[in-house]
Amino acid sequence: MLPKRRLGRTELLVSNLGFGSLGILDRYLSRWSADTGPLKATSLFEFILDQGINLVDTARWYEESEERLGAIIASRRAECVITSKTLKRDSVGTLADISESVRQLQTDYIDVYLIHHIQWPEELHKIFDKNGALEGLWEARANGKIGFIGISGHDPDLLCAAISTGAFDVVELPYNALDHEIFQPVVERALELDVGVLTMKALAAGKFVDSKGKVEKALQFALCVSGVASVIVGLSTIDQVLFDVEVARQVDQLSTAERENALAEIMALPRDYWGVDSQYYDPAACPFNVPIGEIMRLERYRTIYKNGHRTKFEYSQLPIKADPCAACPGYCELPSPFGLSTQGLLIRAHERLGEPITDREIFQHGGEIVK
Ligand code: SF4
Repeated sequence: MLPKRRLGRTELLVSNLGFGSLGILDRYLSRWSADTGPLKATSLFEFILDQGINLVDTARWYEESEERLGAIIASRRAECVITSKTLKRDSVGTLADISESVRQLQTDYIDVYLIHHIQWPEELHKIFDKNGALEGLWEARANGKIGFIGISGHDPDLLCAAISTGAFDVVELPYNALDHEIFQPVVERALELDVGVLTMKALAAGKFVDSKGKVEKALQFALCVSGVASVIVGLSTIDQVLFDVEVARQVDQLSTAERENALAEIMALPRDYWGVDSQYYDPAACPFNVPIGEIMRLERYRTIYKNGHRTKFEYSQLPIKADPCAACPGYCELPSPFGLSTQGLLIRAHERLGEPITDREIFQHGGEIVK
């Protein structure tokens, strides 16, 4: 069975590998096989529970995920620690979401309910206001519908500010081999406060899945990080489950020194290894002073962390963008041993970040705050 770790002050014991239930949506199942639908999803979920994965992560936003999980949770509730989430920022909407989650998951109680994907400081203010989401969460907790309160997001400063209020027992954040430095302060603050830490995006929203070696390294990395209770990964096939569970078991058998060595080895890999952005460029060689690193960061945030709303807004505010890149001979380019082109990455980033913010991107991030 998989090892269990303590989820901070909740005292819940969760498997070091968690199940990100986006994986059982048809649009993810169909990436790997023609076999989709509720039966395929529920049999996969049963297999996942059989392997000893007990942390089951879902959200109101994850389409049919709660309903599909509920078909199995109805008879296997005791084997699960369930986390679900709301994008609502007000009390009434939050309570309605919790009731719907409880109904669809076929349970009477959700272990941790999180404010989902906090992105703007204004949202944080709103959830603390009178009639804000926290009031709804407190009421649901008092009524026994939820056990603990959490928060998720991709902005380390906002997450640190949120957990520092003492209002949240659990924090869910991205953590992977590319962006560990950005998110490490959240893990450290959570440890100081004994807030349970769940991480996501270990495989960079599928950007690291082009080879098994890369998947193994990325998972090892996330699982070795000290203070993380569970690494939540999307699982859509039996092979993925078996592979990821084996990596999680092996990591559990490493000594502290061996884990530190594994982390150091993976951190020493060039950024280009991960295929998302490059470190082989000379910023001083750009005659147009294009902020190369910042633009790659924004594009990475847009693609990996689905922050289209905020990243497009921030890109629009940059005084210098990547518009000269398409017609430039590529003065900044240094040869990447992994074949990545900085200029190519910048041209693509300029195209994508320059597109209009979509309705889906706005709604995904609360649906209300538009800069
Ligand atoms: S491709 Fe040209 S314009 Fe773009 S950052 Fe590099 S040197 Fe500057």
